[in-house]
Amino acid sequence: MVLAAATSVGVGVPLALQARRSASLAQRLELVTSLLQQVPLIDGRWSHTDLPRLRRGMVGAQFWAAYVPCESQWKDAVPMSVEQIDVVRRLVEKYPQYLSLATSVQEIEESHSRGRIASLLGVEGGHSLGARLAVLRTFYQSGVRYLTLTHTCDTPWATSASTETEEQNAGKGLNDFGRAVVLEMNRLGMIVDLSHTSRQTTLDALEVSRAPVIFSHSSARALCNTTRNVPDDILRLVASRGGLVMVNFYSEFIGCGPNATLVNVIEHLNYIREVAGIDHVGLGAGYDGINWTPEGLEDVSKYPYLFAELLSDSTWTEEDLKKLAGQNFLRVFRRVEEVSRELSSRQATPREDRIDPRQLLYTSAARCSWELSEALSRQQQLPPQPEGEQGEQGEL
Ligand SMILES: [Zn+2]
Repeated sequence: MVLAAATSVGVGVPLALQARRSASLAQRLELVTSLLQQVPLIDGRWSHTDLPRLRRGMVGAQFWAAYVPCESQWKDAVPMSVEQIDVVRRLVEKYPQYLSLATSVQEIEESHSRGRIASLLGVEGGHSLGARLAVLRTFYQSGVRYLTLTHTCDTPWATSASTETEEQNAGKGLNDFGRAVVLEMNRLGMIVDLSHTSRQTTLDALEVSRAPVIFSHSSARALCNTTRNVPDDILRLVASRGGLVMVNFYSEFIGCGPNATLVNVIEHLNYIREVAGIDHVGLGAGYDGINWTPEGLEDVSKYPYLFAELLSDSTWTEEDLKKLAGQNFLRVFRRVEEVSRELSSRQATPREDRIDPRQLLYTSAARCSWELSEALSRQQQLPPQPEGEQGEQGEL
């Protein structure tokens, strides 16, 4: 019972920096309690989690990830994603004493000040869009505020880190439709998340996005060499665009194997702080989406121990800890909201880009797409193309 232990200790004043090293764990936990009452602790991903542990962990804002498996792409990915969103919304409605739906910076701050866990929605994987901007917009209307451009599969418009190969190790990246997805997210005010994307998709998204981007649950590649972690040059690029890397706690990504500890998490936080800067590091544990958790941070209730440990390191000021907990994320989200307002003040209108269904001919979409079968049957009814004339057949 972290909160109970922390509040039962009678230290009423913040610990002076120089005293922190010698402070007891209970004293540091008390300071963490006061710090996390001031700033919402924002977890980019959900968790080895339940409501009592979220409260013990003093989590102030939680992104609930609407995730459906890549195998559902071109099958029922879109309705399944709608179901996931519906479940999160119903969960929030069922527990109003604990949770409150948040779709803006202001709503996160209001929820936190009322002692509720601000509940935000993210969609993890562009396959959930069914390659349609109308679905993206409808997700936004349902409260979704970030989209991870890919999960472990490519979409017709973006390549995933999981499909990078030796020969073509950066992946193809974003095509025109993929760039339209990013720009439409900028217009709506939805955060672009690049955890899981291929190197080229990451570079393309960084180039095209008018707003800062996040990695909602990725750690440092230099410390554990996996394509799910962020290499140094991308860390610097994300920082130069005002974005944020939220450190994942999955043991494989932070300890480079099944065993990891709280110390490994701190190594990644320190490394990203060193390369990208204190304004560009956050927390995205990935609890409940990961198979192994680090010793000392086994579930979401353990967050205060992470902050208590950082407090014993004099290179982390209390202001730094507030940035790590939530202020960095709030800054990014605020900028995403501003960009959306700027674009709407310039009369940016909803984009109407579409993927030509014929591009899906050799994908598994072909079996499921009515549009494609229509396009092909119309093509067959067209008069034969005059000889010598090149170019697109028909208006599809
Ligand atoms: Zn993930």
